[in-house]
Amino acid sequence: MEFFASDAMNGRGSGTRDEWIAATYIASHLRRWGLEPLGDEGGYVQAIAVERPELGSPPVLSVGDRRYVHGKEITVASITAPRLSGPLTRHQPGAVVPRGAVLLLPELTREMGEALAAAALVLARQNGCGPIRGQPGALPRVSPRTVGVRPAAARPACVALDGATYTAMENVAAGATVTLEGDVKNVTRSTTWNAVGRITGSDRQHAQEVILLSAHLDHLAPRPNAAAGADNIFNGADDDASGAVAVMELADAIARGPRPKRTIVFAWFGSEEAGGTGSRFFADKPVVPLERIIANLQFEMIGRPDAKVPPHTLWLTGYERSTLGPELARRGAKLVQDPHPEQSFFTRSDNIQFARRGVVAHTVSSFGLHKEYHTPADETRFIDFSHMTDAIRSMLAPIRWLADSTFKPEWLPGKKP
Ligand SMILES: [Zn+2]
Repeated sequence: MEFFASDAMNGRGSGTRDEWIAATYIASHLRRWGLEPLGDEGGYVQAIAVERPELGSPPVLSVGDRRYVHGKEITVASITAPRLSGPLTRHQPGAVVPRGAVLLLPELTREMGEALAAAALVLARQNGCGPIRGQPGALPRVSPRTVGVRPAAARPACVALDGATYTAMENVAAGATVTLEGDVKNVTRSTTWNAVGRITGSDRQHAQEVILLSAHLDHLAPRPNAAAGADNIFNGADDDASGAVAVMELADAIARGPRPKRTIVFAWFGSEEAGGTGSRFFADKPVVPLERIIANLQFEMIGRPDAKVPPHTLWLTGYERSTLGPELARRGAKLVQDPHPEQSFFTRSDNIQFARRGVVAHTVSSFGLHKEYHTPADETRFIDFSHMTDAIRSMLAPIRWLADSTFKPEWLPGKKP
């Protein structure tokens, strides 16, 4: 943690050379511990090409000969590609969303975002897309995409319509083609990095089944307009040096013991803070077929205790959604239900990329909503190493048990995202 969260690492900004160094540091350990490399060219590091189109003019929503402009009648809250198009569909709660539809609905909630992932675009009324980032009227930023893999399942783009435009759209015939389009001024190209290694199971039959243990490498780069003399290094000790270290410790401990029956893949993802680009690439182009991954545990912000749960305890996002958390707890993991359901943490880390594709995938954490989150003060001096060590140690035997067992965790009825 002293290495990851040191000022020398400059905050491990998403897709920066600092992130690359963090991945390379992990790789050097995996080599020593004897894990098999799953990265590029016989190594552990994956370099992932990322493109982000930049818009040169406000995007326009059009249907028939009517046009509505971002910053005037409409506000684009999020946009996943420079051009999105599909048939207008009035969304009924609980109805199956056709792939590529443009949904008209009053308000998009976080929970609905999951169910609506098949849509190309959501049109909501006034503030119905939720809070909008950035300056009012500024050009929206198109989501980054990884090069060379098919487009990922993600939350749909969302456009907030003013009252009159919403009413006008309500009167458009269902099935009419609706298009949201902006001019591309420029495409920025960058790279993000993952580190990936594997311990192959010893049992020929069960080695086909994979447990994925993961964390994220990156945090936040220095802010361009910081006040002179202010601390501008976002060390990210809790977020997520703590999780990255935990997964390293689990890899070391498991590599020392007898080989588990099932296979374990260890992954550290880049660019989680920039929308989960590293994990999205991993889920789109997995090193093992996704249907063979029986469980994913992501470790996020476990360096400080959460006053809402007992000492030295971790919580699991979506604990009540599958049989995995309760079973690990029964085997001795100090693991309880997420005490902050209003924060929707289940959908806010890399696990969601896998959960959306059907893998039983959760995040392990003890984030107590501390005020140092995403500030330059998320430093090693605030880490409670006795909490972190005890809590992670409690996970080791249950994870080993899972890796040696035939237990297959499942989503509970209706709880699969
Ligand atoms: Zn994080």
